[in-house]
Amino acid sequence: MEFKLTDVQESMVATVRKFATKELLPKYRYWDENEQFPREQWQKMAELGLLGLRVSQEYGGQATDCVTAGLMAEEVARGDFSCGYGVLLTCLIGDILDRFATESVKRTWMGPMAEGEKILSIALTEPHCGSDAAALKAKAVRKGDKYILNGEKSSISLLLASDAAVVFARTSAAGAKGISAFLVPMDLPGISRFPYDDMGEKAIVRGSLFMEDVEIPAENLIGNEDTGFIQVMQGFDYSRALIGLMCVGTAQQTLNETIDYVKERKAFGKPLSQNQGISFPIVEWISKIDIIRWLCYRTLWLRDNGLPHTKEAAMCKWLGPETAAAAIHNCLLLHGHYGYTTDFPVEQRLRDVIGLQIGDGTMQVQKMIIGRELFGREFVSF
Ligand SMILES: Cc1cc2nc3c(=O)[nH]c(=O)nc-3n(C[C@H](O)[C@H](O)[C@H](O)COP(=O)(O)OP(=O)(O)OC[C@H]3O[C@@H](n4cnc5c(N)ncnc54)[C@H](O)[C@@H]3O)c2cc1C
Repeated sequence: MEFKLTDVQESMVATVRKFATKELLPKYRYWDENEQFPREQWQKMAELGLLGLRVSQEYGGQATDCVTAGLMAEEVARGDFSCGYGVLLTCLIGDILDRFATESVKRTWMGPMAEGEKILSIALTEPHCGSDAAALKAKAVRKGDKYILNGEKSSISLLLASDAAVVFARTSAAGAKGISAFLVPMDLPGISRFPYDDMGEKAIVRGSLFMEDVEIPAENLIGNEDTGFIQVMQGFDYSRALIGLMCVGTAQQTLNETIDYVKERKAFGKPLSQNQGISFPIVEWISKIDIIRWLCYRTLWLRDNGLPHTKEAAMCKWLGPETAAAAIHNCLLLHGHYGYTTDFPVEQRLRDVIGLQIGDGTMQVQKMIIGRELFGREFVSF
């Protein structure tokens, strides 16, 4: 076993940690208050190569391994949880396009995505189905050298800032087989978008997408017709470990700040930190966060080495957001009444991480995935 980061990884972590704390953290509150997509931060992330981590060099990316991508997601989320979506979605979309898109789609979208010029999102969820994503109803019908898309997609991260979305739509009979993926530019006739008023992750400008007779060229089909859903589900495995690390990064940053706070703040004539009732919870959360960190690294290592990692990725996805939310909640309380104000970033981090207790599959769904491996498919129904 080798637990040491490579020299390149160490140096990337150091650079991005500095960037996250010096450039992202000071404006973390600003984007939330203004409910604005942090385009300026996206551009800076692109300059550091953080938006092309899983894009091959041929298309302008870094082509790093998955562990390195995870380290970057963790560091970025220390400064700004929503900016962590930049790493997350460009990794996931980069992988999908790299593996399954036509040459023309790759050339048009991958380089500009890595350079921060084009924003891409993933549109799977629909108003009537999220956990049961295979029940989706949006339709794509082939007509000559075009597909015509109709339907509604909901809860799409980055939608309001997106130049294109990877959209899932039904091309044949019901079920997981029969769903295809398409690259759909957002400036086409028949597209309309509506923003959500979210409790957190406001910078992620989530929203609903409506498609009415939207025509796209047939070459925008990603992968084979009818198998897009199955192809992308393999990608979701991987993003779950990145999400775990985003949560680890933001929780770790909050715990570090809380340590500083309780060393400084006095009650009953001594620093709060001198009470074990204060220090022990922090110690416990740091211990738990460290366990999740290494679970995530290991999951990404399994993927890098072509080994099965579905169960482990689902563990990262339910444990990461759940533990981070509980740890941050505890940190908020340790800040006393100040923690309940917007003067400290703790309340925003709590609102933000709760989003990923739902996004990309809830805890129950992750437990169903793990259960299916442990008990056998026939004993865990979906
Ligand atoms: C911040 C955020 C970002 C998101 N980003 C995207 C995005 O970019 N693209 C996209 O396509 N979607 C996105 N989503 C949507 C997200 O993936 C879905 O909301 C999620 O999969 C859950 O689906 P649902 O909301 O329809 O809940 P439902 O499926 O209706 O589930 C409701 C509740 O019931 C539980 N449940 C459902 N079935 C079972 C069962 N069999 N056993 C036990 N419990 C069950 C669920 O766990 C949940 O608690 C995002 C959501 C959020 C909150």
